[in-house]
Amino acid sequence: MNSSCEAVNIFPSVTTMEGAGVKLRRGIGFSEAPSFDPFLLFDDFSGDDPADYVAGFPWHPHRGIETVTYLIRGDVEHGDSIGNRGSIGPGQVQWMTAGGGVIHQEMPQPVAGGMVGFQLWVNLPAKDKMMSPRYRGITAGEIPTVEVDGGSVKVIAGRFRGVEGPVREIVRSPWYFDVSVDAGRYLTLDIPTDFFTFLYIFEGDGKIGEKGAGVTAKHIVKLSGGDSLKAIGGDEGLRFLLMSGEPIGEPVAWQGPIVMNTEEELEQAFYEYRNGTFIKKG
Ligand code: FE
Repeated sequence: MNSSCEAVNIFPSVTTMEGAGVKLRRGIGFSEAPSFDPFLLFDDFSGDDPADYVAGFPWHPHRGIETVTYLIRGDVEHGDSIGNRGSIGPGQVQWMTAGGGVIHQEMPQPVAGGMVGFQLWVNLPAKDKMMSPRYRGITAGEIPTVEVDGGSVKVIAGRFRGVEGPVREIVRSPWYFDVSVDAGRYLTLDIPTDFFTFLYIFEGDGKIGEKGAGVTAKHIVKLSGGDSLKAIGGDEGLRFLLMSGEPIGEPVAWQGPIVMNTEEELEQAFYEYRNGTFIKKG
């Protein structure tokens, strides 16, 4: 018995300032997160003008979450307290499990041709919030593109028509796809019924669900439960990120880059950050 995922809420990402002065578009944040469990935040830091993004995100802590950075165009230099240094380039993904604590910086570099990039925060359940931090850098060539009738799907995490993405053994096994639908065509995706799913439309326009809700670029689409998603490309085609994951259902205590279950845990985290004991030596 098939049940179709339908758009239950469609709203635009909103321009905001973050980091040391990065102008970005926030898709979901603090006020949306309670109804997007297990996801906390989604930012679109795409831009044509380097002045909008070069201030970057200098050294800051994270605890209790995973941060997922996906770059389509541009260059983001990064470094962290686990010892990673490098740059994220076009088509690459950085999947960082902050766990008990990471201090890092993420600095977009000025590039010709503009920046297209996104960051997602995935919550961790209480039992994993203090796990050892992990970092995965995934190159463009490691991400399979599944060509199907009507479009193509880059499988970063999760499974599409038998093809599994390279980001595996993630705590809540969230799915992350980059989906392209050709103009005037459609494709369908199977979705786990117990997952919560949302989309971020970033190119073109089209329709979502059997009911055919109209969607345009720079919009978040929150979906109802179901086991399949139909997406139809408009005149220019449609391209979106699909993010899907099993809800956690625990209390959220959130301040800035740290997300725990209780206020006491938050206070503890900021106390440790101030006195230099934030990073746990494995
Ligand atoms: Fe960060």
